[in-house]
Amino acid sequence: MEFPRKVVVGEGIIGKIGQVESRVSRARKILVLSGPTIYPQIRKELESSWDSAQRVSVEFVGPATMEEVLRIEELRKKDGCEVILGVGGGRVTDVAKMVSFRSNLDFVSVPTTASNDGMSSQFASIKGKGRPYSYVTRPPTSVVVDINVIVRAPQRLTSSGFGDAISKITAVEDWKLGREETGEYFGEYAAQLALMGAELALRNAEGIGRMQKNSVRTLVEALISDGVAAGIAGSSRPCSGSEHLFSHALDLHSKSQALHGEQCGVGTIMMAHLHGLDHERIGAGLNAAGAPTNASELGINKEDLVEALVLASELRPERYTILNRVHLTRAEALDLAKTTGVV
Ligand SMILES: [Zn+2]
Repeated sequence: MEFPRKVVVGEGIIGKIGQVESRVSRARKILVLSGPTIYPQIRKELESSWDSAQRVSVEFVGPATMEEVLRIEELRKKDGCEVILGVGGGRVTDVAKMVSFRSNLDFVSVPTTASNDGMSSQFASIKGKGRPYSYVTRPPTSVVVDINVIVRAPQRLTSSGFGDAISKITAVEDWKLGREETGEYFGEYAAQLALMGAELALRNAEGIGRMQKNSVRTLVEALISDGVAAGIAGSSRPCSGSEHLFSHALDLHSKSQALHGEQCGVGTIMMAHLHGLDHERIGAGLNAAGAPTNASELGINKEDLVEALVLASELRPERYTILNRVHLTRAEALDLAKTTGVV
């Protein structure tokens, strides 16, 4: 099991990272990876985290591709930094995680959005040859989340994080099926941890929809716990099931511009129905949290949605899910989408 050694969630802490993480205050050279939109917004606050003796270089991260990882790695070698901070959204986190893993350096994850569960996990989603790959790296050394920064991010990103958090409901059901059908290891503790986060997110759906700090904080803690659940399980099993396969199929075979958590949320509605769970409760939660609940809100057409449902079962045959059991035909996929109000 590998976990972050420190997780700090609070308000106004983006200017106190040196105080909360001694690896940052001790480092002579720090590399900050960030994005061109978020950095100017937080620069002033963030700068109070360093003292004048420390040398801090800032680099903006481009697309989360292997080329970008290699480019930053070269830069890192020349820079000679001792610790890497990833201050930004999912793309920045993924690249910073990958670079620090390959360079064997401490990585402090400072997410500025709560759009998915990557902020604390060991998985980095990096594109190669046009398609995203999930790499197993190491969890961040520490995670520092400033709720004041998260609530300033566009609502859509937080709603997407809600979709990723509740997707654990079907991911865990799929995992149970895997135990029944293939005898694979099922970790009760990791499963319950992921489910607890999903339930807490559901209970806070309205507050998340209104970007209330307490509710957003609960969501952030749920997303961090998801990374920990994956760490306990030793795989992404508690966090990623058939609903994630649906989302991956959309990424690969459609022009969907929807966010990961938005796609997973809609996937959860449909997979919950296949599992015989209450899909309406999930749809109501997504709606209250301001996340999409159907194809048109995702911005995809009916044909692409049906195609993704059919292809989802073929993407990861070694990972047993409800889709291995039901083997949806096109007609059944359309039926499922209609029954659950997704089309
Ligand atoms: Zn996810």
